[in-house]
Amino acid sequence: MSRSRFTLDIGAVRQNARVLVRALGGSELWAVVKADGYGHGAVDVARAALEGGATALCVASVAEALEVRMALADARLIVLGPAAEDELASAAAARLELVGADGRVPDGVPVHLKLDTGMGRWGLSELAAPARNVVGLMSHFASSESDPAFTRLQIERFRSATAAYGPLTRHLANSAGALAYPESRFDAARCGIALYGISPFGDDAATRGLVPALRWESQLALVKRLEAGESTGYGRAFVAERPTWVGIVPVGYADGFRRDMIGTEVVVGGERCRAIGAVSMDAFAVELPAERPVGESVTILGDGVRAEEHAHVADTIAYEIVCGLRTSAPRAIRRVIE
Ligand SMILES: *Cc1c(COP(=O)(O)O)cnc(C)c1O
Repeated sequence: MSRSRFTLDIGAVRQNARVLVRALGGSELWAVVKADGYGHGAVDVARAALEGGATALCVASVAEALEVRMALADARLIVLGPAAEDELASAAAARLELVGADGRVPDGVPVHLKLDTGMGRWGLSELAAPARNVVGLMSHFASSESDPAFTRLQIERFRSATAAYGPLTRHLANSAGALAYPESRFDAARCGIALYGISPFGDDAATRGLVPALRWESQLALVKRLEAGESTGYGRAFVAERPTWVGIVPVGYADGFRRDMIGTEVVVGGERCRAIGAVSMDAFAVELPAERPVGESVTILGDGVRAEEHAHVADTIAYEIVCGLRTSAPRAIRRVIE
């Protein structure tokens, strides 16, 4: 039996794309599939997003774009991160669009100029008259999930800096912007996290009609009873105070079940159970309410367990949880369903 199984529901991605298209009220949806589609599988997600109404795909690097291009010959592909000089020829040959964020405008490819409106990272502080191969103007939010005043300031800076360049495609919003700031939508929105059915705000995405696209399942590989005073795992991080049934799940930090996720809940045979002890490279322990059979199902994502919950326990964001998943063989089995 496999140690764990990931199931990507591309019907869910399609539906999330439709929800976003509707929310965007006429602006285009550009699907962000960088970092292998936030750990979900870039090509599968890209295809589903296009079927759901997205009109372009965004990735972080030329290498990522070339991989998507091999599978999707006709898709519009935009590389959000910097491209090196020696990547320009292959970018042009693969019909990629690049971003100019440091004053240089790459030659021979369509370019989006990036303005820094408050992110304080890549981006121009001022917009000069755009060169002829510039097709778009963009910027990026710093805190659209948490700071309305600063987000509105960024929207206003972007609006006024780009107002004179109406014919160019203007795009500013990420998922949070697309969902919460109608005035940030301009001509297109670059949405990632919401496409995967995860809320950028850390709350329950279902309230916005978004469906989590990834399930992660395993099973109990071992069930044992600890007597009072006995421990499980490295460092004796969990010591039983009374006789306690524990199950060992053959999934660990090398699979993406991070050490700081201890204390989070998973579903064992239909019941929520807490991860206890210390996560090993290849296993973690759960506290069981009673003896359970070896082979009992364990759901780490799905059945109501959301990536946002694990992120909360780990004091991080759901983006980091899903990007860290090792969804492909030989660590796990990955399936795609409609
Ligand atoms: C990753 C990224 C996005 C997508 O952000 P989400 O919060 O996942 O929607 C949009 N724009 C840029 C420039 C990005 O790097």
